[in-house]
Amino acid sequence: MGAWMWIAWHDARPRFKIAVCARLVTLLGLPGTDMSTYAETARAGSAFGEGFVSAAEWTGMRGINRVPSYVIMQPTTLCNLDCSYCYLPHRAADRRMPVAVAEAVAATVNEWAASANRFSVVWHGGEPLATGRTHLAALMAPFRGVEHHIQTNATLVDDAWCEFFREHDVRVGVSIDGTRRLTTQRVLRGGGEAYDRIVRGIETLRRNNLSYAALCVVSDPEPGLAAELYGFFLDLGITVLGVNVEEQEGVNRRSNAHDGAAVRAFWSELTAAWRNDPRVEVREVEWALRYAGALLAGSADELLPRRHDPIPTIAQDGLVVLLSPELAGFTSERYGDFSSGSVLDRPLHEIVASSAAQPQGWIAEYLSGVEACRQSCPYFGFCGGAHAANRFFEQGRFDGTQTQHCRNSKIFLLEGVLDHARAA
Ligand code: SF4
Repeated sequence: MGAWMWIAWHDARPRFKIAVCARLVTLLGLPGTDMSTYAETARAGSAFGEGFVSAAEWTGMRGINRVPSYVIMQPTTLCNLDCSYCYLPHRAADRRMPVAVAEAVAATVNEWAASANRFSVVWHGGEPLATGRTHLAALMAPFRGVEHHIQTNATLVDDAWCEFFREHDVRVGVSIDGTRRLTTQRVLRGGGEAYDRIVRGIETLRRNNLSYAALCVVSDPEPGLAAELYGFFLDLGITVLGVNVEEQEGVNRRSNAHDGAAVRAFWSELTAAWRNDPRVEVREVEWALRYAGALLAGSADELLPRRHDPIPTIAQDGLVVLLSPELAGFTSERYGDFSSGSVLDRPLHEIVASSAAQPQGWIAEYLSGVEACRQSCPYFGFCGGAHAANRFFEQGRFDGTQTQHCRNSKIFLLEGVLDHARAA
């Protein structure tokens, strides 16, 4: 199913594709795009022409930056929940990051932050709040001039944590999958639904006037689901919603293969629900709209970063994994522990710079996979080659191209948003 839709878009006539995007622009009022731009693009007839799929057309995502825009810190491996789709291998073990690791990371990050407009440190576990306030404060203490972000399951949030967030100026993201019916896979370690505790944590955030974003996992994207989902998040009072279709990753070996038409219908209906009441920014829909608008404006190639952000993830023991946080904590016979070094042995800026200058092992293999995508995939300009971990966990290596993840969350996303434009 996925293949024919992929080919259908690839082979569709350029003017048809431009017309679909133009309809989207008219309907949704894309920022920064007007109909005169569309007319110009249509006259040139090149936005979706043959050049659209040629390697030369997409100039971004070549190589790796020497400086990231954010780092991910794993303050503990422990999570107090045991969600059925979780990918983390050591979530039952309480291994906390020593302060020496945070100090070593901060020695580099503070320099990066001093010369950047914004620099984020994202605390992502395990469950970061399971680290405890005192220890997390000690881990944050060495950082200067950064934005702290926490992704939490919210079950441990109380007034004292809210005070902590305020004091440390932490931006909060909450993981919840929607209504009680949709959140049943988030379960307590001893068994039983985590929903009531998650909602209690969210109510505590609201009572303390803290804003928060939400991240939800959709295991079975299908028609009829999106309206329930979006309505729930509207009522929750969030500002930004991220929607992840469940991935086959890490210790979660469940299949993520879905009927393509159902996934497209899900994204299409989510776009419709958002259009009906666009108070919440839906990250994925926004990406697709921005891309469609840029195609019309003739600036789509500028949307891709020139190089990959290295996204250093620092595991609790100080090992640094680049590009894909989901690989941290795993080993493979072929690729070892996926790390590029330890901050306890070598400064973080050196670890990143040497991998960027001379990619080796799985990173070099991944970059060759990205080049294969550039050569073969008409969605490359939207996707940029997707994530290393999805290739590894789905295909056992890094130099393949299309994964089920990229079908669910890139190709069918873009197609679903465009389906909405066609139908509206
Ligand atoms: S990862 Fe998938 S959608 Fe992205 S460029 Fe590669 S094949 Fe295309």
